Amino acid sequence: MIRGETALVTGGSRGIGRAVALALAAKGCDVTVHYHSRRDLALEVSPRVLQADLASTASIDRMVAEIPDQSIDILVNNAGIWKPSPLGSTSEDRLDEILNTNCKGVFWLTQAMLPKLRDGARIVNISSTAARVGIAGGRSLYGATKAALDSFTKSWALELAPRGIRVNAVAPGYVETDMTAEHLGDPDRRQNALARHPLGRFGTPEDVAGTVLFLCSEEGAFVTGQSWNVSGGFVI
Ligand code: NAD
Repeated sequence: MIRGETALVTGGSRGIGRAVALALAAKGCDVTVHYHSRRDLALEVSPRVLQADLASTASIDRMVAEIPDQSIDILVNNAGIWKPSPLGSTSEDRLDEILNTNCKGVFWLTQAMLPKLRDGARIVNISSTAARVGIAGGRSLYGATKAALDSFTKSWALELAPRGIRVNAVAPGYVETDMTAEHLGDPDRRQNALARHPLGRFGTPEDVAGTVLFLCSEEGAFVTGQSWNVSGGFVI
């Protein structure tokens, strides 16, 4: 069931999160969009918006306090950053920034959201192919945080099964969004990245949203604890 249900999508003002929010809304879901700094963009997606810096537990707590108990059916942990962390020249601040945003924040938000979720709710974590394959280029911390999300997905599926809450992840290959614009703007890097996708193209935010929709719908009712590659064959 999605029509008439409620969802919270983190980082829903742009990119993959925006496509997920719009796909859920198109099926009749009442979507609240979380945003970090661009309230104007969030309001283009939904009239219901909430702000938080997901790298800050205090900010998460403040946002979650605004959400009524037992009011959310679908939580999509989409927000994240993809900043370089080359082994040999990564500062402690950068390390903390990546871990706090992509890993600690997802754990803290999901924990804080537990009283807000209805029994039978669904959680979808947006992981990455970077959790499964090594990639040169100094993004090992990013890959490690996404591997953490895959691990959360398995354990949370078991922890929350007694409430009928299903937990899954989606792991996209390269998708053209603000996150990858600079990287894929370089012709050599673009060619290298494209060569990893046997289907011969990058993913679109809508490709990812379609799988999220399936995992949240009745058609996916017996799927939990899984991390789905949506990568055009990048990971098989
Ligand atoms: P994007 O940069 O367009 O969107 C990221 C979103 O996260 C933005 O809305 C941003 O405001 C939010 N965000 C970042 N830091 C935040 C913070 N501290 N507090 C609150 N919000 C914060 O990128 P995207 O491509 O749409 O990425 C969405 C998700 O998909 C991310 O988790 C990313 O890791 C994952 N992903 C993307 C790709 C890709 O190729 N684009 C591939 C695999 C996985």
